[in-house]
Amino acid sequence: MPHPAHIAFMAVPAHGHINPGLGLIAELTARGHRVTCAVTEDFAPQVAEAGGEPVRYDSTLPSAATQQEWPEDQAAAVLLFVDEMISVHPQLAEAYAADRPDLVVHDIGALQAPVLAHEWGVPAICLSPTHVRFEGIEEVFGFDDDPGLRAVHAKADAFFAERGAPLTFATLDQQRSVVAIPRSFQYFADSVAANHEFVGPMLTERKFQGTWRRSGDRPVLLISMGSAFTDQPELYRACLEAFGGLDWQVVLSIGRVVDPAVLGEVPPNVEVHRWVPQLDVLAQADAFLTHAGMGGTMEALHSGVPMIAVPQAADQFANAARVAELGLGVHLPKEDVTPEALREALHRVSTDPEVLAGAAAMRREIRAAGGARRAAEIVEAHL
Ligand code: UDP
Repeated sequence: MPHPAHIAFMAVPAHGHINPGLGLIAELTARGHRVTCAVTEDFAPQVAEAGGEPVRYDSTLPSAATQQEWPEDQAAAVLLFVDEMISVHPQLAEAYAADRPDLVVHDIGALQAPVLAHEWGVPAICLSPTHVRFEGIEEVFGFDDDPGLRAVHAKADAFFAERGAPLTFATLDQQRSVVAIPRSFQYFADSVAANHEFVGPMLTERKFQGTWRRSGDRPVLLISMGSAFTDQPELYRACLEAFGGLDWQVVLSIGRVVDPAVLGEVPPNVEVHRWVPQLDVLAQADAFLTHAGMGGTMEALHSGVPMIAVPQAADQFANAARVAELGLGVHLPKEDVTPEALREALHRVSTDPEVLAGAAAMRREIRAAGGARRAAEIVEAHL
């Protein structure tokens, strides 16, 4: 084993970005390394439970505290990350000034991380919680070459140049990277550059979320639109109408914005929560109605749970299409959601042999991909 090192973990303060790295933090600390984690106050308990030492900073990104929503427009969303980099960089430069790490592991969206690693003269390893660049990505993800987006990239490049970092927005993904999805879920994996290694999801227990137990033998359906796209009262009402009275135990996570009163009467087989210990529920679930954020998608696949994917924004459309294409579930566009369509989708994902076999096969692939153990080996090889 290499000499214990100080590894700095830098992510984006959002559940979909922090959670995918928790397993790696836990594995690295179990191997004797010291892992400091740059986080906002909201995420300090999670990383501390995984064994990391929180290093706090203030973020400009939307959070539960600001009640601000993530923009759907791509240029606007990327601009948030660039402005975050400019605001967080000096905070972390100061926080780490007397406690330099030996290596930085960072989320693809934590743009300040490779800049800091360069300034400190230490290696950086990117942790991608989602698909990485492949041939044709612009088409699959509907990226347009719009002038607004180019201006945002230029703003990032100007900051990189100002800090003397040999980075450009367009080539950021050429550094060594660990991808927290299984290779077969990646679009056109054969066209992905060799600097990316697919280790699959790296999940770890989340005691801080509490636990959940099924109440009997009925199959369990979890419904969750993740952490950011939860303002969906019509979808939730359609779910209550579709699944109320079925012989299923239904767990509905509605998030922080929707007022439970607007749901009307809740059928007895449905339990409504603002937030659930999702890994725990999925470990006992038979179907997952999801917005197909990559975090939730990977968590379902890790437990072999087939999905009904109702994407809302960002990479979710591509993820949902991939779920359907690989026979891991059903893609139900939100404009097609009706109680009947939802019931039919649930019937399909819980009975179709192709879907059940697909989900089971993906679960096996994930077990074989190495997860946090493999990712930790890659990190150690760069120390
Ligand atoms: N999550 C949770 N409980 C909930 C809803 C979401 O623990 O009630 C977690 C979920 O397990 C996942 C993250 O929040 O790790 C959401 O990430 P995802 O990529 O699925 O969606 P995003 O919120 O980024 O759109």
